[in-house]
Amino acid sequence: MAFQRKKTKEIKVGGVSIGGENPIIVQSMLKTSPENFEGSLKQLMELKKAGCELVRIALPTEESCNIIPFLKREVNIPLIGDIHFNTRIAFKAMEMGVDCIRINPGTINNVRKVKEIAEKAKQTNTPVRIGINSGSIERRILKKYGRATPEAMVESAMYYVKLFEDVGWTEIKVSLKGSNVLDTIEAYRKFASMTNYPLHIGITEAGPFFSGLARSAVGIGILLYEGIGDTLRVSLTADPVHEVLAAYHILRSTGLRKRGIDIISCPTCGRCKVNLKEIVEEFEIETMSIEKYLKVAIMGCEVNGPGEAKDADIGVAYGQKTALIFSRGVVTKKGIPKDMAKDVLKEELYKLL
Ligand code: SF4
Repeated sequence: MAFQRKKTKEIKVGGVSIGGENPIIVQSMLKTSPENFEGSLKQLMELKKAGCELVRIALPTEESCNIIPFLKREVNIPLIGDIHFNTRIAFKAMEMGVDCIRINPGTINNVRKVKEIAEKAKQTNTPVRIGINSGSIERRILKKYGRATPEAMVESAMYYVKLFEDVGWTEIKVSLKGSNVLDTIEAYRKFASMTNYPLHIGITEAGPFFSGLARSAVGIGILLYEGIGDTLRVSLTADPVHEVLAAYHILRSTGLRKRGIDIISCPTCGRCKVNLKEIVEEFEIETMSIEKYLKVAIMGCEVNGPGEAKDADIGVAYGQKTALIFSRGVVTKKGIPKDMAKDVLKEELYKLL
């Protein structure tokens, strides 16, 4: 069964088209300080290599915006400036050529200032993400609902969308992130039924790797199943490259987008005579820049190994002493010493690119 996507308005962020019929775009965020130019550049390059297509960057001060032209000169990937509290930072970021700004209206919380940002965005042709966050809903709305309910998040989003519409700037996308998975799903559902603005989806403050991944997979997975979502981020307290790999795993599992190497590996058991965990982790990192979708089976022994390896585009089945390599269903290499099998598998993979 294919997931049916709800068609939204198309906008462009840098060279990337979002919404409409376009594929769901994978986003992450730099975790380096914007004062650290070289460290930020290194992380940005790693993110691009992993397949990240939009990168958000925290801009806490006006001076921090100086990193924008530097990064844009070095790497071709749209940058979204994350702005809170201070409208002057938003103006500076737009003047420095940022591809999009993300504002959290709850941390600006002033109609005149939000309208000034909208005017400037219109003037500089800068798309804007209106990022509602359950942790920073305006006080008057919190008072009305008692807490950051889905209805409160939607009312906040609609209010700020209207301010942008009043100014005549509708190159906007919206997010309604809560740390409560079910509230987040409900907020997106309601908002998607009321407008056709593109939506950036994710679960905010999702947590450390395992809990974050589980919460994001459930929340994002349900939204995608309902046809909601044009860009997504798996927020993790972890290396941002892991956020990108996780996002593609979710998209592959839903059949919505197939990019890169899809590894099928066994959980291992007492029959396994290699360090399969290490082999699989290394293989995943070493092949993460490959864009073509290929299924690779890495199996610990001869019980299920040959079967799975035959079904994949390429595969390896480790044995007691050596390994068998498969390509497109047939054995292409036999008797490969176990310590060489990963490299031989990679050679077979490159032949299919
Ligand atoms: S393939 Fe072999 S090693 Fe892997 S889980 Fe199955 S029986 Fe165990």
